[in-house]
Amino acid sequence: MADVEKKDTVIVGGGPGGYVAAIRASELGQKVTLIEKGDPGLGGVCLNIGCVPSKALIAAGHRLQETLDSSTYGVSKTNATIDFKKTQDWKQKKVVDRMTRGVKMLLKKHKVEIIDGVAMMDNDHQLRVLKSGPKQFMDFDGGRKIEWNNLILATGSRPVEIPNFKFEGRVIDSTGGLNLPEIPKEFVVIGGGYIGTELAGAYADLGSHVTIIEGTDSILGGFDKDMVKVVVKNLKKKGIDIITGAMAKNSTQDDSSVTVTYEVDGKESSIKADYCMVSVGRKPNTDNFGLDMTSVKMDDHGKVIVDKQGKTNVDHIYAVGDMVPGPALAHKAFFEGKTAAGAIAGKNTANDWVGVPAVCFADPELAQVGMTASEAKDKGIEVATAQFPFAGNARAVSLDQPDGFVRFVYTKEKKNVVGAQVVGPEASTLAGELSLIVNCGMNVEDVALTIHPHPTLNEPIQEAADVALGLPTHI
Ligand SMILES: Cc1cc2nc3c(=O)[nH]c(=O)nc-3n(C[C@H](O)[C@H](O)[C@H](O)COP(=O)(O)OP(=O)(O)OC[C@H]3O[C@@H](n4cnc5c(N)ncnc54)[C@H](O)[C@@H]3O)c2cc1C
Repeated sequence: MADVEKKDTVIVGGGPGGYVAAIRASELGQKVTLIEKGDPGLGGVCLNIGCVPSKALIAAGHRLQETLDSSTYGVSKTNATIDFKKTQDWKQKKVVDRMTRGVKMLLKKHKVEIIDGVAMMDNDHQLRVLKSGPKQFMDFDGGRKIEWNNLILATGSRPVEIPNFKFEGRVIDSTGGLNLPEIPKEFVVIGGGYIGTELAGAYADLGSHVTIIEGTDSILGGFDKDMVKVVVKNLKKKGIDIITGAMAKNSTQDDSSVTVTYEVDGKESSIKADYCMVSVGRKPNTDNFGLDMTSVKMDDHGKVIVDKQGKTNVDHIYAVGDMVPGPALAHKAFFEGKTAAGAIAGKNTANDWVGVPAVCFADPELAQVGMTASEAKDKGIEVATAQFPFAGNARAVSLDQPDGFVRFVYTKEKKNVVGAQVVGPEASTLAGELSLIVNCGMNVEDVALTIHPHPTLNEPIQEAADVALGLPTHI
């Protein structure tokens, strides 16, 4: 029997929650051990098979479209082609591998001990590290036994499978969608959430004919309807078919295609495609590493219940990222990792999701922070809204991207901003300023009195504040 090793701060999972917690814990003087099972590996879902490679494919699609048609600018059309193997190589080697190497280097610099293997919980005080791979559970009696002063769980999440759409062959999850060997001629996406919509847009730009099958009455259900309208219009312009109120029923496949059957209003239809990507949600990794051997409590969705500092009901055990409630987003996981590491160091840290931005890198991008008008009204807050269109912004027009708007939701009485939405060019970047405004509880007057550079895509933020004050300039 191996001896039990006593460690200081142990972190399970090296994704955005785990590796950021490790760095912060080390900065705050803790001796840190990080256990990562290697699938997907350091950087987690985000760096390896999520945020980062998806944005690389989206960027490649935009480049192709710009090269194919920039006639608006008087640039003549070229016979551009795409070598998708090269695109995939670039995405993997120059983007993903480079960024994950960076994470490893940062952890090394912060003297974080990295253990390769699967952590399995034994009880509230001990875990074992087993070798990764299919035999992992066979040597359950073996493995390194580890105890901790403090433990941070950051095991993340994985895609949900639906009946009759087992992930194999031409039925793929988002990871499969990111790693296709060729650009599909026909691509079916089941689930029009932000992951499905982003990859649908990327493949449409790369030349696929894409169909989105969505169960509810609209794609991007979590986003404000006025913003979604702008995106839907553009997705349709790209030739994407969006079928809403549709239930995916069945899939059959042969060597070269998959046939997807779905039902709308009781009527069944089928589409034959090269690939079918299912992106209907993700489930927390809380059921596959022995958490039931501990007294850590979970909610009805299988997520670990934590307090504002990320602390579970068990002393010295914290949990962060996709495995705890709240939006499953990398920037939320980063923040929670820092909060938990700070809490362990005795700092007065707390998670506060007032200003957490939700972003979708569709075309155009959209982002929202804080409350929408209807959410505010549901909470009994009297609010008004003011918006400024990108069509009135010189920079957006010169980029030939005039669709969309910036909108503030602010209290009627004091004009404090409680929410903001943006759909349009670089919405993801603008979301940073909007988060600051909401997080700081700024008044629209504060925003209106902040000089923004001209001509930039940030100006609609100031101009929307002017609209709120009844003093618009450019509309
Ligand atoms: C296609 C796609 C696109 C996305 N785009 C965005 C985006 O644009 N912006 C955004 O904010 N978010 C995005 N996300 C979500 C984002 O990736 C996640 O919110 C984020 O990765 C969660 O971080 P995490 O640390 O909680 O978990 P994860 O990233 O899931 O990392 C968990 C890590 O723990 C390891 N692990 C699990 N169990 C064990 C164990 N028992 N022992 C050892 N190691 C273990 C895993 O190997 C993994 O590396 C996207 C996700 C997908 C799938």
